[in-house]
Amino acid sequence: MPDAPPTAPDPAPSLPGLPVVDRGMRFVVGRIWCVGRNYAAHAAEMGAGPVAEPPFFFLKPTSSLVPGGGDVPWPPETTDLQHEVELVIALAGGGRRIPESEADRLLFGFGVGIDLTRRDAQSEAKRAGRPWTLAKGFDGSAPCSVLLPAHPDRPLRAGRLRLRVNGRLRQEGDIADQIWSVPALLARLSSLVELRAGDLVFTGTPAGVGSLAPGDRVDASFDDRVSLSIRIAPPL
Ligand code: MN
Repeated sequence: MPDAPPTAPDPAPSLPGLPVVDRGMRFVVGRIWCVGRNYAAHAAEMGAGPVAEPPFFFLKPTSSLVPGGGDVPWPPETTDLQHEVELVIALAGGGRRIPESEADRLLFGFGVGIDLTRRDAQSEAKRAGRPWTLAKGFDGSAPCSVLLPAHPDRPLRAGRLRLRVNGRLRQEGDIADQIWSVPALLARLSSLVELRAGDLVFTGTPAGVGSLAPGDRVDASFDDRVSLSIRIAPPL
């Protein structure tokens, strides 16, 4: 007897998404782009030297998303889990080779996220010339706040990012100090891939990244407009 043909998962897997403030809807997330080294002070603390290379991109899987915050289990085989607070932008439109002057039109909204990083695994990957996937894309590695709709008259050019661990300020910076601004990032990324509605972009972290411990409470905010709280829970 031949085996029965494989069937699609039933029910279909649910789509990851983020709640949107005041819109009674969810923003369905397609891809999660992340930017490395977009603030000079953070590049310096990572040993990249005073003049950093241009920012670069990597991806997290949508399974890493923690919508709206909450508990994040300590990831497996990790001794150094670190926080990176970042402005997150969400795209309503896409395209290829978007000019910087038109990039703001792609924005759906924005929020604040934490690019959780297994720094020990990342350092080992750097040494061995291996991918960062499991240093940056483990389950729960992308907590992100609710989204605020973008406002055409208020482009994202300045605003303070803050992160506190157990109430103590650990990271503070301003997106005005990004090496590549939001439109410059979108212009650059769209010259490499076709951007799509549903893309999120974690736009890089300011200085002050540091280590976490199980039980820590982490509070992140952008410009006092949007905030996010997580708790580092025991390993699963
Ligand atoms: Mn980052």
